Amino acid sequence: MQKMHILSDSLDQADEPPPLAAAESGETGTEVCPVSPDARAQANGSWEDWKWQMSNRIRGAAHLLNFFPHFKNTLSLGSVIKKYPLAITPYYASLIQRLDASDPIYAQCVPQVEELQNPACLSEDPLEENEDMPVPGLVHRYPDRALVIATTTCSMYCRHCTRKRVAGTREVSISSGRLRQIVTYLRAHPEIYDVIISGGDPLTMSTEALERVLSAIRTVPSVGVIRIGTRTPVVLPQRITEELVGMLRKYHPIWVNTHFNHPNELTEASQQACGRLADAGVPVGNQSVLLRGVNDSGPVMERLCRGLIRMRVRPYYLFQCDLVKGVEHFRTPLSRGIEIMEYLRGRMSGIAIPQYVVDAPHGGGKIPILPNYIVSMSPTHTVLRNFEGMLVAYPEPYGGTGYWDNVPSGQSAPGVWELAGGLNSHIEPVSLARMNRRCAHA
Ligand SMILES: *Cc1c(COP(=O)(O)O)cnc(C)c1O
Ligand code: SF4
Repeated sequence: MQKMHILSDSLDQADEPPPLAAAESGETGTEVCPVSPDARAQANGSWEDWKWQMSNRIRGAAHLLNFFPHFKNTLSLGSVIKKYPLAITPYYASLIQRLDASDPIYAQCVPQVEELQNPACLSEDPLEENEDMPVPGLVHRYPDRALVIATTTCSMYCRHCTRKRVAGTREVSISSGRLRQIVTYLRAHPEIYDVIISGGDPLTMSTEALERVLSAIRTVPSVGVIRIGTRTPVVLPQRITEELVGMLRKYHPIWVNTHFNHPNELTEASQQACGRLADAGVPVGNQSVLLRGVNDSGPVMERLCRGLIRMRVRPYYLFQCDLVKGVEHFRTPLSRGIEIMEYLRGRMSGIAIPQYVVDAPHGGGKIPILPNYIVSMSPTHTVLRNFEGMLVAYPEPYGGTGYWDNVPSGQSAPGVWELAGGLNSHIEPVSLARMNRRCAHA
């Protein structure tokens, strides 16, 4: 499963199917497509019914074996499942193409013994959400935003979940008493402008139950925006029904952030789900988690982001894996994320490029991480690097500050210092594709 982490020559997956065809194409690897061929037939025409998908989730090792007759790796799965529950919708399971962790869908949903690894730097609640809960079920970390844990249920339990301590340990939704407490808190804190309904996955709730939460929050006049964090378009797209979006649009402005991690998740069904939300006027963003062996490569991330904007989903965040117990095998070094950002910038539109962030341990919040584009600064000029490696001097508005005198005259070979001193305006690589295009035009 481990790949060479060298950006330039690794993982060029041009031989893989294009994003939207991936799920339909069956096998790509060497093994047979493992999905029991009659899985859809067994649904008896209920495959498109989200409630059928919910009640027929794969919940145990035996069930997994039933779904995938070729599945062998059930040894010791029991102890993992006891600690971190298992649930996979038949739909999401049907996207698996290879029955091992080299498959990006498999890796995200099938438990692995590695989850029981326990390095000292990991904890149950590294973001210290429990410490930032003024009332149970409400995380108030940033001045103007608060996050509501509306349910502990998800249709699929991501093996890399940041809230492993909550998600699926019990499957319960918010009580009306708690909801009232939360509304009282929001009223007492009019600085909270943006409320995020999270969990668990709030779209696993019935439309009526979710509407009770939305309408209660909408009684607070200081709340401008309501956001819903949900993986439903990815793992249970059948849930995004006309009935649901019809309810959501009554509470606008509603924003949705979803959680696609790999281009194999971009199917016809998920495209329809996201399209339905967008058609209802719901802006849809995406929050990916950088996962070792799943999406820790520039080309994979490029395909994911291109596919997302085609579905009218805006890549919003790329999260560094949190220091959560049970996810050690998914962690990558920070440098991997920086490499990926370096790869994406310039290659594709800014609309398709997410912000890479570390959600800081101890509740520090999200910290954006970028490759360095500022190479040097003087009072008169800032030296910037572009994606091609070109260095360019940006003159500050009030250039003649007297600092000018400190700059040596250009005897030495031109370098960063000459740019910072205003003696040169740019330095560029000898053979740039862009410049070659210009020559061809001339
Ligand atoms: C991520 C997060 C938010 C929202 O942050 P944005 O940067 O606005 O998307 C709010 N509250 C908590 C506790 C969060 O973890
Ligand atoms: S959908 Fe979200 S809350 Fe649920 S298991 Fe996945 S990451 Fe965790």
